[in-house]
Amino acid sequence: MTERLYGVADVGGTYRRVEVWNDGMELVGQANGTVHPEDYEGTVRSIADSILQIADGNGELVAVGTAVASEIGEQGRLVLGGALSPWSGKRFGVDIGAAVGLPQERSGTLNDMTAAAVSQLAVNQGRGIHESGYVSTLSSGWGGKPYRRDGEVGYDSPGHAFLRDGAECPCGGHDHTEAFLSGKGVELNHGVQMKDWLSDRRNARQFVTDLSIATITLVERNRDEGFPIDVMRWMGGVATGQPVLMARAEAAVRDKLGNGAPLWEAVSFGGQAGLHGAFVEARRLAEVA
Ligand SMILES: [Zn+2]
Repeated sequence: MTERLYGVADVGGTYRRVEVWNDGMELVGQANGTVHPEDYEGTVRSIADSILQIADGNGELVAVGTAVASEIGEQGRLVLGGALSPWSGKRFGVDIGAAVGLPQERSGTLNDMTAAAVSQLAVNQGRGIHESGYVSTLSSGWGGKPYRRDGEVGYDSPGHAFLRDGAECPCGGHDHTEAFLSGKGVELNHGVQMKDWLSDRRNARQFVTDLSIATITLVERNRDEGFPIDVMRWMGGVATGQPVLMARAEAAVRDKLGNGAPLWEAVSFGGQAGLHGAFVEARRLAEVA
């Protein structure tokens, strides 16, 4: 029997990961590369070519799923500022599908944090866990999305919520959480790398205070939108590279919120959560189409 294959991609402002998986979640092949935001057509073509080359001779490509560092609007159109802003309004999923020769309904695209939430929901379902939580990447920026035990994924933008006065945000705004808590924000405001910045004890203490306040705000904001947060699930270089500071921030949140505080855990698929979520989406499309 011919193997059913799924093209999956995780596309950020700088790098793209392109893989082909089979129904057994085996990696058939991968092709990673850089993204050139000014060349949309070329990026679409190179992702599609990579998928087709890997799939060639290995089975039948039945669907494609992509995770992209952009909010997704009406008709799958990208809605963004940030690094990929030249792609605003593009129907990325549709264009990838067309480029690999699949019908529109077999090619889906998700916001990358939504894909990570979809990944976590799939993991939870497999384990019989019914948790409402939040997936979050804290690295060069700060992204995240809430997910609910009923499978609903919400909208949130933690990096560009107000935190406190006194810093420029990489988005061009002021006083957003990313200005204080993300790698790009620290570089922009202090001209040093996050790791070096946090090696100073006072900066580390400020980071713990800022992250705990931002997380409490996040929990309250999402609860008000109908998304209770029982578990904060973290990934990204700052979150995974600073376990002591993350533990201190978790304790500070618990001090304030008591029993209402979320547990802090890692995202189950870690850095592959976007690809896995894209795979879950591709398989769903193959089943309904
Ligand atoms: Zn901002």
